[in-house]
Amino acid sequence: MSDLQGKTALITGSTSGIGKAIAEKLASHGANIILSGRRPAREVRAQQKEMEKKYGIKTIYCRADMAKPKDIEMMFRRAAETIGSPDILVNNAGSQHIAPVKEFPLEKWKNILDVHVTASFLAIKAALPHMEEQGWGRIINIGSSHSETASPFKSAYITAKHGILGLSKAVSTEVADKGITCNTICPGYVKTPLVEGQIQRQAETRGLKPEQVEQEVFLDAHMTRKFTTLEEIADAAHFLICKAGNMTGKSIVIDGGWTAGRAPRMQPAAAPK
Ligand code: NAD
Repeated sequence: MSDLQGKTALITGSTSGIGKAIAEKLASHGANIILSGRRPAREVRAQQKEMEKKYGIKTIYCRADMAKPKDIEMMFRRAAETIGSPDILVNNAGSQHIAPVKEFPLEKWKNILDVHVTASFLAIKAALPHMEEQGWGRIINIGSSHSETASPFKSAYITAKHGILGLSKAVSTEVADKGITCNTICPGYVKTPLVEGQIQRQAETRGLKPEQVEQEVFLDAHMTRKFTTLEEIADAAHFLICKAGNMTGKSIVIDGGWTAGRAPRMQPAAAPK
């Protein structure tokens, strides 16, 4: 499939997890890829070479801390000078910090809002002139089930992920008549390094095996009792980019039914009369 041939896609946080899977999917459809993350360039070369060889596309890697506006500016400048300004932008970089509100450190709060919300705003701002000039662009922001609902101890993340939804809607209203869409993908739990770290920490805190934490804590939220997969999210990204030109300011929620309503683990023996 080469429906993205000639397009360039920038995916933030694309050296791991969801971002890496989306980069791989878009490359497999012929897009040139701007990889971005915090890792040193030498650690990303193997990923670049593999994608270039497998899909016959071009890649560049921009090392950028998304909490730093200067890094974001530099990333867009470097892209324009080398592979081309992005036609597709996926704001995916993100991290988590878990603590009760009363103990939540202000620096962590600020960093999470900077990386998820302010960085997405700055990247969109930098991407729009090129997209508007050519009359086509696709922006995808990675939200979460936590864009729609809340759980304890994740105040900054939940605030940021709700903010992402608002940002997507606001941007969509300004660019809908310019061939540009801006949507959000909201995954439930996906087994990536971000969640594997949480599973490990919960196992230690609760004195449970990691498999028990997966089943009893994480999958308790998913009515399907299945993790959301990387493939499901990457396919949704491809759909939004290639098939959904008339969909904007909305979200695709892939969370095993979590935000539709939790299924009780033990079904009642008989329906209540
Ligand atoms: P991950 O840890 O595998 O990937 C996150 C990426 O973001 C990494 O490459 C990391 O280096 C990068 N990143 C973090 N802080 C950064 C910074 N300051 N500057 C630049 N890059 C930075 O995690 P993931 O699960 O793939 O998460 C990707 C996105 O998906 C995040 O926005 C996350 O909130 C969201 N999400 C994940 C899940 C899940 O269950 N894994 C669920 C819903 C939403």
